[in-house]
Amino acid sequence: MGDLGDDPTAEPELAEFRSEVRAFANRLPEILAGADGSIDRTRRFLAARYDAGLGALDYPEVDGGRGLDRQHVRAYQEEIAGSELGNAGAGFGIGIDMCLPTIRDHGSEELRQRFLQPGLRGDEIWCQLYSEPGAGSDLAGLTTRADRDGDEWVVNGQKVWTSGASVADLGILLARTDWDVPKHAGISMLVLPMDQPGVEVRPLHQMTGVAHFNEVFLDDARVPSNWIVGTEGDGWRMAVALLAHERSSIGRGGGRQPIPVDRLLELARSTGRTDDPLVRQDLARLHTGSQIVRWLNARPGIHPSISKLWRSRQGREAADVTARLAFPGGMAWLGDPMGATEPDRAVEPTSDHWAYGICDSRALSLGGGTDEVQRNTLGERVLGLSREPTTDRDIPFRLVPHNG
Ligand SMILES: Cc1cc2nc3c(=O)[nH]c(=O)nc-3n(C[C@H](O)[C@H](O)[C@H](O)COP(=O)(O)OP(=O)(O)OC[C@H]3O[C@@H](n4cnc5c(N)ncnc54)[C@H](O)[C@@H]3O)c2cc1C
Repeated sequence: MGDLGDDPTAEPELAEFRSEVRAFANRLPEILAGADGSIDRTRRFLAARYDAGLGALDYPEVDGGRGLDRQHVRAYQEEIAGSELGNAGAGFGIGIDMCLPTIRDHGSEELRQRFLQPGLRGDEIWCQLYSEPGAGSDLAGLTTRADRDGDEWVVNGQKVWTSGASVADLGILLARTDWDVPKHAGISMLVLPMDQPGVEVRPLHQMTGVAHFNEVFLDDARVPSNWIVGTEGDGWRMAVALLAHERSSIGRGGGRQPIPVDRLLELARSTGRTDDPLVRQDLARLHTGSQIVRWLNARPGIHPSISKLWRSRQGREAADVTARLAFPGGMAWLGDPMGATEPDRAVEPTSDHWAYGICDSRALSLGGGTDEVQRNTLGERVLGLSREPTTDRDIPFRLVPHNG
C-alpha cells in the first residue's frame, strides 16, 4: 500500500487530512443523486469538492487554495481513487489539470480572479486550441493569427483535434502575434470565449463512433486584449508549461484510460482462461506495467514524458491482450457504440466495451504529443543529446515556407 500517511501517529496532520477526504467521498452518493448525465454529475462533484475546500489543494491561499504540498495531493488521490469521480471527470480535465494550473502560475491577477474559481468549481468548461492542420508535432509552426484591434485581439485561422470544443465555454489558444521573429518567439497564449459568431465548431467522428474532438474555425473571433496568459510573444513558454501539466496529468491517470487490468482479469475468469500460461504471463505483465506507472508518478521531479510514454505503452498492450482474450467479441459492435450518447466509462464491460477500448487505445500514443515526440523530448532535455537539426528555427517566421 501507499508509503504516505499509513502510520497515523507518525503523520497526524496528514492522517487528519485523509479523514477529511474520506468524509467528503462518503457524501458523494448524496451529492450525485439524481444527476442528469456525466457533465451534470461532474459539475456537481467539482462544485461540492471546491466548496468543501478540496478543489485547489496545491493552489496558493491568495488564489482560493489550501497551499498544500505534493504529499497531500497524493493522499487526496489515494483516498478518492475508489470513488467514480476520483479524477476531474469527463470534459473537465483540460481546464482543471492543464489550463487552470498554467493560469495560476503565469496569469495576471485579473486572469486568476476571473478564471480560477469558476473553472475549479466546474462552472466553465475549457478546451485546448493548439493543434492545426499544418502544426501538430511541429506546434511552433502554427499559422492561426491574432492581430490587435483597439481593446481586442482579432483571431483568424483553424484548429483541429480540439477535444471537447463542442461543449467548451473557453479555449486556451495559441496564436501568432508577430511574423517577423523566429517561429517560437512570435506566439502568444490567449483565452478565447467559444460562444461568439467568429467561432465555428465542427465535430470529427472517430472509429470508436464518438465525436470526441472537433475542427474549430476562427473567423474574426474576438478576445479582450488583456486575456493574454504571460506576455505578448511569450506564448511558447506558456505552451510548454501547459504541455508539462498535460503530460503529467495523462501519466498520473487523467483523461483517456487504458483498459483496466482488473477488467481483463474478470474477462480471463469469465472465459475460463486463467490457467493458460500465456494469458497468465500477459496479465502479470500488464499488472506490472500499471504498478510501474503508479510508482513513476510517486517519484518527485520525474520528467512527465516518462510516465506518459509508459501509459501509452500500457494502453496498447492492454488493448492487444483484450483483443486476444475477447475474440471474437473484441471485434463485434453490438447495438449502439458505447459512449455515443453517454461517454461515461463506468459501464459494465460488454463486447461493445472491448471494441471501444481497443479502438480508443490508439489515441493514447497521440493526444498530448506522440510517443516519438516524447522520446525526442527525453533525448534532448533529459539525456542531453544534441537537438534535432532544423532549418527554420532562427529565421523570421514570415520567411518559412508554410501553407496559408
Ligand atoms: C484523442 C486525441 C485528442 C487530442 N486532443 C487535442 C486537443 O484537445 N487540442 C489540441 O490542440 N490537439 C489535440 N490533439 C492533437 C494531438 O496533439 C496531435 O495529434 C499530435 O500532437 C500529433 O500531431 P499531428 O496529428 O499533426 O501529427 P504529425 O505531427 O503530423 O505527426 C505524424 C507522425 O510523424 C511523427 N513525427 C512528427 N514529427 C516528428 C519528429 N520530429 N520526430 C519523430 N517523429 C515525428 C509523429 O510522431 C507521428 O507519428 C489530440 C489528438 C488525439 C489523438
